[in-house]
Amino acid sequence: MKETGHLVHEYLRSSKRFPHIWCAGCGIGIFMQALIRAIDGMGYGKDDIVLISGIGCSGRLPVYVDFNTLHTTHGRALTFATGIKLANPRLKVITVMGDGDAIAIGGNHLIHAARRNVEITSFVINNQVYGMTGGQVSPTTPFGVKTTSSPYGNLEPNFDICHIVEAAGASLVARATVYHTQLLNRLINRAIKKKGFSLVEVVAPCVTFSGRFLGIDSPVEIMQWQKDNAIAVDNAKAMSEAELEGKIVTGILVDRDRPTYHEQYERLLRTKLKV
Ligand code: SF4
Repeated sequence: MKETGHLVHEYLRSSKRFPHIWCAGCGIGIFMQALIRAIDGMGYGKDDIVLISGIGCSGRLPVYVDFNTLHTTHGRALTFATGIKLANPRLKVITVMGDGDAIAIGGNHLIHAARRNVEITSFVINNQVYGMTGGQVSPTTPFGVKTTSSPYGNLEPNFDICHIVEAAGASLVARATVYHTQLLNRLINRAIKKKGFSLVEVVAPCVTFSGRFLGIDSPVEIMQWQKDNAIAVDNAKAMSEAELEGKIVTGILVDRDRPTYHEQYERLLRTKLKV
């Protein structure tokens, strides 16, 4: 395995784009390191990868890494990714989105990318809040939590990102936390290799907003909370709904094979249009 210093020089646009904007203790940097390690370990060349984001703190990630990258508009990472994958299926197309970006303004695109089973690897960094714009409630903010835009408590039940994409038809669905870095590395690897639409929800701390709103504002305490509350999916199967309340079920939640959109399209060209 290469040392971190080597990877920094090889993959980060450190002389052009740094310092980064992330707060000290933010979880996005841990995910970025895991992503780079996974891609490096799989032997892809930098030009094999297209990394696409929307808007938000996690949307800055492609700015910092030296792949083919796009930093697009809010909620639209998957639309750009779909176009690129269909135009050049040889490319490994990866999106990085935040919870607001993926599930709120981009929610419709997420559902339909999973339904079509376009071969895109998606990572949703879920920190349960809109961080970049000042700590507003997002679709994954827990019920009752006070945020900048819900000063008396969030009145909305929160979405389960993995359930949504499972129901929509994703080929692979998984969840990890940034505390469990070995698991995160394995899941990134599996998701990138998967044929079809894959999504990994990455539970990550926003120390500046959601940590404070949830009453744990130290990065170390948040990591401890992730450690204490994560349940491996096989162990979760034996637990009741009440026992799983507030827990983070981690691991591969869904792994199935469906024809990809591109395969269907090629079949159409061959059989009906005789191209
Ligand atoms: Fe990370 Fe939150 Fe800071 Fe954004 S505001 S960089 S999510 S800690």
